[in-house]
Amino acid sequence: MKVTDHIQAAKGETLFSFEIIPPVKGKSIQELYGNIDPLMEFKPPFIDVTTSREEYVYLDRDGLLDKKLTRMRPGTLGICASITHKYNVDTVPHVLCGGFTKEETEYLLVDCHYLGIDNVMALRGDAMKEEKYFLATSGGHQFASDLVQQINDLNKGNYLHEVIETDNCANFCVGVAGYPEKHMEAPSLKSDLKRLKHKVDLGADYVVTQMFFDNKKYFEFVDEARKMGINVPIIPGIKPIAVKRHLQLLPQVFRVDIPEDLIDAVEGCKNNKEVRQVGVEWCIQQSKELKEAGVPVLHYYSMGKSDNIKAIAKEVF
Ligand SMILES: Cc1cc2nc3c(=O)[nH]c(=O)nc-3n(C[C@H](O)[C@H](O)[C@H](O)COP(=O)(O)OP(=O)(O)OC[C@H]3O[C@@H](n4cnc5c(N)ncnc54)[C@H](O)[C@@H]3O)c2cc1C
Repeated sequence: MKVTDHIQAAKGETLFSFEIIPPVKGKSIQELYGNIDPLMEFKPPFIDVTTSREEYVYLDRDGLLDKKLTRMRPGTLGICASITHKYNVDTVPHVLCGGFTKEETEYLLVDCHYLGIDNVMALRGDAMKEEKYFLATSGGHQFASDLVQQINDLNKGNYLHEVIETDNCANFCVGVAGYPEKHMEAPSLKSDLKRLKHKVDLGADYVVTQMFFDNKKYFEFVDEARKMGINVPIIPGIKPIAVKRHLQLLPQVFRVDIPEDLIDAVEGCKNNKEVRQVGVEWCIQQSKELKEAGVPVLHYYSMGKSDNIKAIAKEVF
């Protein structure tokens, strides 16, 4: 079922959902299940599964370094299939521009369709670790909007190199990313919103936001988006702070601000157990206010750990 249909069926009730990250290559999927199991009591209608970009590794071959590409956390689609099978829940694989040619993307979408996956999240992906800026993969897309276009073309039977008349067309519901504090490369929030509008105009059905710690930023973002004519659901994505280092790491990686009160509370903690509690309490307050405001879904970035998300969901749902 499509994410937008789940939202409609909920008739204004806020739904619970979360995002998981595939395990590092070589780890067992059982570990992942161990983190999903405790969250299923909150009845997520869909679970997102991220895709990681490939990275360079340098292998020592008789004293010479051999540069190879590898993906540390493969298996997004396999995980989607097994989660759907095990829990009878919809899954949303993240599909990236970076690291994929358009043809590979087409085959991935065909696999999704065969597996009965109705939703995909269309993302550009970040620059590779070694690169300062995002560089499109040869034969791949430059922007998420190009990916949205490809998915919607495929929904109409327009494959890359042929048009196929069929009554078995895919009908993907497409999610895209939005940034209440603007994307790090965008010159202004307004120009970033114009890019978001372009993704929606090309057929994106809903938006999931980057994490934020101040709800005001989300509410203002939604107001601005609506003024610009972006009328699809805008799902807030949130994450509890879990360790002291997040105070530096999250702004550095995601370019998000952390409110002074939260910084003070975290800095006042004696250890990370206390930080975790502060993060959970902050996230509960955020969630309650967002739910009160009638957001369609509260989407949690679990980062593969469920204990804090469960503590939050217990208070909110
Ligand atoms: C909900 C969510 C889930 C995510 N999941 C993943 C994941 O699974 N794996 C992963 O690697 N990353 C993930 N990311 C991170 C994401 O890939 C990065 O933030 C990436 O840098 C931008 O992706 P995008 O889809 O927003 O890109 P885009 O929408 O393409 O935007 C990228 C930048 O280009 C600008 N722009 C867009 N179109 C144009 C244009 N035509 N001309 C000039 N500038 C333009 C935008 O303003 C923006 O600054 C996720 C992010 C979010 C919010």
